[in-house]
Amino acid sequence: MAASAAARTIIENCAIATVDANDTEYASGYVVVAGNRIESIGAGKAPEGLDNVVRRIDGTGHLVTPGLVNTHHHFYQWITRGLATDHNLFNWLVALYPTWARIDEAMVKAAAQGSLAMMARGGVTTAMDHHYVFPKGSGDLSGAVIGAASDMGVRFTLARGSMDRSEKDGGLPPDFAVETLEGALTATEETVRKHHDASFDAMTQVAVAPCSPFSVSTELMKQGAELARRLGVRLHTHGSETVEEEQFCKELFGMGPTDYFESTGWLGSDVWMAHCVHMNDSDIAAFARTGTGVAHCPSSNARLAAGIARVPDMLKAGVPVGLGVDGTASNESGELHTELRNALLINRLGAHREAALNARQALRLGTYGGAQVLGRADQIGSLEAGKLADLVMWKIDGLGHSTIADPVTAIVFGAAAPVTLSLVNGKPVVEDNRLITVDEDAIARDARAEAQRLARIVAQG
Ligand SMILES: [Zn+2]
Repeated sequence: MAASAAARTIIENCAIATVDANDTEYASGYVVVAGNRIESIGAGKAPEGLDNVVRRIDGTGHLVTPGLVNTHHHFYQWITRGLATDHNLFNWLVALYPTWARIDEAMVKAAAQGSLAMMARGGVTTAMDHHYVFPKGSGDLSGAVIGAASDMGVRFTLARGSMDRSEKDGGLPPDFAVETLEGALTATEETVRKHHDASFDAMTQVAVAPCSPFSVSTELMKQGAELARRLGVRLHTHGSETVEEEQFCKELFGMGPTDYFESTGWLGSDVWMAHCVHMNDSDIAAFARTGTGVAHCPSSNARLAAGIARVPDMLKAGVPVGLGVDGTASNESGELHTELRNALLINRLGAHREAALNARQALRLGTYGGAQVLGRADQIGSLEAGKLADLVMWKIDGLGHSTIADPVTAIVFGAAAPVTLSLVNGKPVVEDNRLITVDEDAIARDARAEAQRLARIVAQG
């Protein structure tokens, strides 16, 4: 089909926050979507005389923004929510590894569907999953997760994780929960070759993602980075999450986490790292100098008592920052709106107080910032002609939001706003606050059944 014949959808009479470089907003404007692209956007009514208009939507009472972009998650944790609720990171991990080591393909599929559904219903149009637990004989876990995202119609990055530093090598995971160095590298390369799509409108991408310094050998960090660069894909890991991790790095490697990452090839504009809570000025300068991105996960950091990441300082230094739900074993809500709100509120409890972040900066973190750290800022993350049509229509004239003075303030400071419509790649995924591509109730039932099956297996020992 020629571009001129692409089916058009017109949304008009809505407030619009484009999150473009100038933070352009329209009190009442329009968006024309043609095929999977934004064709035009502006103030007032849509242009007259457009052909092949298949849908015209009255956006009165709504704010339209770019779709939310989630940059850090662990889908499998959807079936282990509400456990170890009063733990810090290290004792939380030690409590949960034995359960996680028993997951299989059916469990991971059900958990991925639950994680994706929760996010998509709340306005996420690009999701990611950092999956790093691959028990022997557990099936095609990467395929299960990618299939779940594809069935739902959500744009997706799989960060193919790995762990090879178990207790016997001074690491945190038990010996039975890890892969070998060679096994992890081979499987990661296979996953990239099979699933990664480098095209402009890719729905599936794959990153190389060893789990963390305390669960991965130095050799896997180094060879993982080399593999990613050889294959031309991005690199992701956890970094500088807690004081205990900092201590671990100093004892084992004789340096802090950021210096360790630099020594293993893990700083660069093709890298994004989750958390980055315990960063000093020179760490932040190193991230800025190298263009290394950050996935800020404020709810998880609060739940695990990790601390407050210095987001205002990172932004001032020019570090790309996006938002992450993190796994739902450390953030049971599983939705990204909470992260916009908590990024703003929690950072105001830090050194910069009320000047830390404002509503528009929080929205930018959850949209354009996310696109930047996933390496897709040319394609998604803001509403501009030529970019992909990933957008959300938030209902702001209902009970939760109708008296909040400003539309962007309403969706960031207010309760999670209902999603009247979300488009991913030009196609509807949510209509009237319900997912239309999948059956939410069936997903909830299946996930519960798989959570119960996992708990039974663990109880049987
Ligand atoms: Zn994580």
